Amino acid sequence: MRISCPYCGDRDAHEFVHRGDAAPRRPTSDDGFYDYVYLRDNIAGPMREHWYHAQGCRNWIVVARDTRNHQMSGAVLAREASR
Ligand SMILES: [Zn+2]
Repeated sequence: MRISCPYCGDRDAHEFVHRGDAAPRRPTSDDGFYDYVYLRDNIAGPMREHWYHAQGCRNWIVVARDTRNHQMSGAVLAREASR
């Protein structure tokens, strides 16, 4: 699988660390923190995920990927995606 890092370009997925779904937002109180950390949906289809380019630029990126066929449809730096 190849991931197109917005900073480095097209790279092998082994250079990245997968964090998972980019949709959940960290709660501002203890309520919901367990769910935020441990309970994740297992989505079959298009989703946005966090990936860390550990063996490259060391940026967090948000990748749009279809989990059924691993087709990537875009990637942006996470700090730009959160704006
Ligand atoms: Zn990179």
